[in-house]
Amino acid sequence: MQIKCPLCKKKTTWEENPWKPFCSERCKLIDLGKWAMEDYKIPSRDDESENNKVEEEKR
Ligand SMILES: [Zn+2]
Repeated sequence: MQIKCPLCKKKTTWEENPWKPFCSERCKLIDLGKWAMEDYKIPSRDDESENNKVEEEKR
């Protein structure tokens, strides 16, 4: 079975592919890193904006 790598759209095979659904370890790590970065970014932004609002209301 042939699949397309969801990251770089390169054709790869599903069978005997340790990095599926990606074409390579690189694409898999990039995708994992992308999600990890988004997980870190969103809560830290929310904390900052909420803290700023609370400080403004107190003043
Ligand atoms: Zn790829």
